[in-house]
Amino acid sequence: MAKKHTNLYDVIVIGAGPAGYSSAIRCAQLGLKTACIDSWCDHKGKRSLGGTYLNAGCVASIALLESAKIYHSLNHNLKQHGIQAGSITVDIAQMMQRKNNIVETLSQQIADSFAEHKIDCIQAEAKLLNERQVEITSLNKTAASILEAKHIILASGSSPIDLSCAPIDNEFIIDSTMALNLGAVPKRLAIIGAGVIGLELASIWNRLGAETILLEAQESFLSLTDQQIAREAYRIYTEQGLELRLGARVISAKKGSKKASLERSRKVTIEYQDSDGTHALRVDKLIVASGRKPNTENLVAAEADLLLDENGYVHVDENCRTTLPGVYAIGDLTLLGPMIAHKGIEEGLFVAEQIAGIHNPVNYGLLPSVIFTDPEIAWVGQTEQALRAMGEPIKIGTYQLSATARAQAIGQTEGMVKIIAHAETDVLLGVHIIGTQASELIAEAVLAMEFSASSEDLARTIHAHPTLAKALHAAALALKTQLRFNS
Ligand code: NAD
Repeated sequence: MAKKHTNLYDVIVIGAGPAGYSSAIRCAQLGLKTACIDSWCDHKGKRSLGGTYLNAGCVASIALLESAKIYHSLNHNLKQHGIQAGSITVDIAQMMQRKNNIVETLSQQIADSFAEHKIDCIQAEAKLLNERQVEITSLNKTAASILEAKHIILASGSSPIDLSCAPIDNEFIIDSTMALNLGAVPKRLAIIGAGVIGLELASIWNRLGAETILLEAQESFLSLTDQQIAREAYRIYTEQGLELRLGARVISAKKGSKKASLERSRKVTIEYQDSDGTHALRVDKLIVASGRKPNTENLVAAEADLLLDENGYVHVDENCRTTLPGVYAIGDLTLLGPMIAHKGIEEGLFVAEQIAGIHNPVNYGLLPSVIFTDPEIAWVGQTEQALRAMGEPIKIGTYQLSATARAQAIGQTEGMVKIIAHAETDVLLGVHIIGTQASELIAEAVLAMEFSASSEDLARTIHAHPTLAKALHAAALALKTQLRFNS
């Protein structure tokens, strides 16, 4: 395969997920000659910018969850509104088509923005050769060339971790990408892992009528989430019919024996262990959602001598600088923060501005976290258990969504808001929400905490009435005065 040398860029970005595309666009806005290389193809084999977040993560997942929620609501909530409808059926192919259309539109918006900013968008596999050079290979492997840049930003994202005990066949035992592309609702579905991805996928398929069982090796549920909120989530999910088996480690999963009847052969047999011993479970589909790993396997030539840790994460300093001068790593590739889209976006902007001589660091302490289930979970800052472990003097205000007029009016009363403030200074230390629109409500808390607000600041801020945000206001008031009122 002939290799030729081509352009010299100010910046080459490898990966067009949220971290990569935001970085490339900001570089171009700052006057830097920029190329962005990405290899993602959609189900039709067409280029699709946006990475996992858009094609097989948050956006695809939220689009399907919205459809699933409508279907569930039509089946369960119409009567109380005095509305009658005939039989309600679901057309999964159309649901997937809607999701694919949304993904295509958003991906095209990224391509348009690249064109507007005169970014060279190259569809290829990229490999870092050294601190100045990137080898690009066409997807059909017939052509290769070497690009040069003064700065290189690695943003190649992450992919699902394979479990050797549950090998993916993408027919019966599927990964999280395939789980957003199923052609029918499985009758009985198991998911390995009750982490963020497992729960988000469970919310979709459970709302569409699948009997859904989550098998989670850890004894604790959502251990990084505030445990009061996690308990509330556990209660709500199980009342919705999700079966959460904690302390259940899957040790094997196989397609049903071919010798068995057709019905039986369609099923997956799972073996898992818990404190009572080994159990077997038969399901129609099994989703493996046991974590993600950074995409560094073929990203760097050995001679480049870039420092990775034993799990493949790129070693970076607090400025996202790798061990090679001029080479940065952002998003899911590093352990600087959690694997979430907005962390990658912020790092992308930070690195682009750093290259242009502007220092605008990321505030990792105030990254909001969101779990896009039904209802949503969102939080910012510290959990009660972490603050107590640190011995911080704290005070806590909570408010149930069911006590707010808006939640009652829209029939979305499950959930609560919890505000934690410093017992002496009253400064906000953490805000935790479970309930409808939690991902939107948390923005107010992030802003308040960015300005080092106290709970009194939040309590004295006028909130429109009746809104869901009044629950946040009421939790702050409860914290200040222990006053409770119908909000
Ligand atoms: P995770 O690590 O959050 O959860 C995986 C779970 O699988 C763990 O709890 C683990 O104990 C369990 N597990 C592993 N092997 C098992 C086995 N053999 N049997 C039973 N359980 C087993 O990983 P994830 O949910 O795959 O998510 C990956 C990353 O992507 C996370 O960092 C997550 O935060 C991020 N993500 C974030 C969002 C969001 O912000 N909304 C969305 C998707 C993914």
